[in-house]
Amino acid sequence: MSVVTPHDAGAPVIELAVPLVGGSHRRASAGTAGLEVSAADRSTRFAQMRAGELGSLHSWELVTAVDGPGTRMTAFLAGCPLRCLYCHNPDTLEMRHGEPVTAVELLARLARYRTIFEVTGGGLTLSGGEPLMQPAFVRRVLRGAKELGIHTAIDTSGYLGAHCSDEMLDDVDLVLLDVKSGDPETYRRVTGHELAPTLDFGRRLAARGTETWIRFVLVPGLTDDEGNVDAVAEYVATLGSVSRVEILPFHQMGRDKWESLGMRYELGQTQPPSPELVERVRGQFRARGLTVH
Ligand code: SF4
Repeated sequence: MSVVTPHDAGAPVIELAVPLVGGSHRRASAGTAGLEVSAADRSTRFAQMRAGELGSLHSWELVTAVDGPGTRMTAFLAGCPLRCLYCHNPDTLEMRHGEPVTAVELLARLARYRTIFEVTGGGLTLSGGEPLMQPAFVRRVLRGAKELGIHTAIDTSGYLGAHCSDEMLDDVDLVLLDVKSGDPETYRRVTGHELAPTLDFGRRLAARGTETWIRFVLVPGLTDDEGNVDAVAEYVATLGSVSRVEILPFHQMGRDKWESLGMRYELGQTQPPSPELVERVRGQFRARGLTVH
């Protein structure tokens, strides 16, 4: 640890001078380094996965001021039912491509950072891929984190919100909910699937009072239509549990991965949004009284 700086959520942020272990497929990439991978045979692994004792993990990392407040351990679970055209993590889409890691192993690693989490107001974020592809494992890890007194977040598209039991949500302090479009047709074009499950999940979170941060990826020519953004903003404004909205400008950082995986990348000619477009979209959310980052 080196520098302590103020954080906009009120907690100080400890910036790590060197990465600890692990790493990000998005930001550094060291996969599951530092975690013991299960050596159990195939049938034992299946049984353990069903019981939530074992998960398929793509990678993990320690991050500051992303994926939730403070310094966080973000675990990227493998597997996702969506196929977003702009996915930055196409290497997380298949569950079978992850490494088998037990909940006990992940929680032991998490416990090491308890002091950092306390000082920074951070905690655990389960991301992916789509964490709700592995609900039994997620439930187990969330329960273990809460037993350690650690703040928890899940980063989800909400498409599999029905996999998230009320009992699981009792152990979730924050949901980072990706609303990829307000218009069902655009949502289908972006993800290949229906919008309604995400909207339903957001309403359920609001009814429960679960704190929610909304994320919207702004892609010129795909999600930037004024009417589409208005539809997202109007929906979000109805959710009383939303404390912030993050507009994420599209970038080309995932492109090489698509190509290296032999997958067809359709946004090769798409440019990042201009500062004016980002500001217009932020303004559409702010106009509805929402806090935008
Ligand atoms: S939901 Fe996330 S991980 Fe899944 S395809 Fe979309 S961007 Fe990729």
